Amino acid sequence: MPTAQTREIAPAGRMENVRYAIRDMAVLADALTRQGHKILPLHVGDPLSFDFATPPHMIEAVLKAMRDGRNGYAASQGINEAVEAIRGEAARKGIKNAHSVFVTQGVGEVVDLCLTVLLNPGENVLTPRPDYPLYSAVLAKLDAPLNLYDLNEDGAWQPDLEDIRKKINPKTRGIVLINPNNPTGALYSRATLESIAEIARQHNLIVFADEIYDKLILDPSEKHVAFAEVAPDVPCITFGGISKNYLAPGWRIGWGIASGEPAAIESYVEAIHKLLRSRLSASQPMQWAIKPALEGPQDHLPGVLTKMRSRRDATMQWCKSTPRVSCVSPLGAFYAFPRLDIPEGDDVFCKELLIQKHVLTVHGSGFGQRPGTKHFRIVFLPNEEILSKAYAAISEFMHERYK
Ligand code: PLP
Repeated sequence: MPTAQTREIAPAGRMENVRYAIRDMAVLADALTRQGHKILPLHVGDPLSFDFATPPHMIEAVLKAMRDGRNGYAASQGINEAVEAIRGEAARKGIKNAHSVFVTQGVGEVVDLCLTVLLNPGENVLTPRPDYPLYSAVLAKLDAPLNLYDLNEDGAWQPDLEDIRKKINPKTRGIVLINPNNPTGALYSRATLESIAEIARQHNLIVFADEIYDKLILDPSEKHVAFAEVAPDVPCITFGGISKNYLAPGWRIGWGIASGEPAAIESYVEAIHKLLRSRLSASQPMQWAIKPALEGPQDHLPGVLTKMRSRRDATMQWCKSTPRVSCVSPLGAFYAFPRLDIPEGDDVFCKELLIQKHVLTVHGSGFGQRPGTKHFRIVFLPNEEILSKAYAAISEFMHERYK
């Protein structure tokens, strides 16, 4: 009889550096739900959890693909129809020199691929603070040290250019830009992008432009500017996908668009394709929705934007009228990142708010933030009725707690 295995299987030490505050708060919320409480969810960036629906012609395209027997592995870079449609989208974004386009399992997989292909041991890329935790999780997986640059709350949450310059060291290989931004909702100006391009040129850096929210611009007077349009010479991978703009996050489809001076980016892109081949392909039937999404009717967007704008406005109204709360108005995506002037940590704030009032938000410290500042992230996707209930509950909580 073999003896039973009783020794613990220890996870790798690098897992210490993986944090995902959103999921951590959700675990506590699950426990409260099991106790019979109804949670007001202002935490998860999934439009399909609320009153948004995937455009029907995309669903039809996937069903047809499955019925037509398109159920095998696809080409590793994606099916031709999708690759060509993404090239067309790149051109519409003003990216004139897209050398290579590849389809992945969500932007999550492009991030993993691009960082894995770039970084040798000890090297780093600059990522924003506050960040979207996917980046720090992938960097932890690669044993790459974090090198964070600040987003400047006093300057409409634009990247702090001085901080970027200061943080670049001989081991820095690239810069991550999330525009429109999660968690701040900021939209970057052309001038900001031009300055970052200049820094990238000076230091021979690649730019990863995460533009997954580029069609979710909340004010008609604002326009999204693609980094690769501003800087066609700078090596850049632009990330996009159907999770947000096209309301299909569960399909796990994203892509990368490589641009920049060919001599500078060619061997890097070749290595990306090598790794793409090793993981076979993204889901084939889902890829058949890419062309209909990008080239078909866009008539879901006006309705989506009208809802998001009115929910953003309700959120800002609450922020403006609530003591101890201030917030830069979000211009893109569906996140607000209000600042808190409170005598305790924002982690305690969010946890107690959840336990006492059953409102689920995520604490700013879960995203990283400038030391000494406190925030919490609101996802303003729920309808106005849920939002107003949630905001009344947060006001009550703050009044009772801080007077
Ligand atoms: N990048 C940013 C900035 C995000 O906010 C998200 C999801 O919330 C992702 C990437 C992940 O995208 P995908 O669903 O395509 O993996």
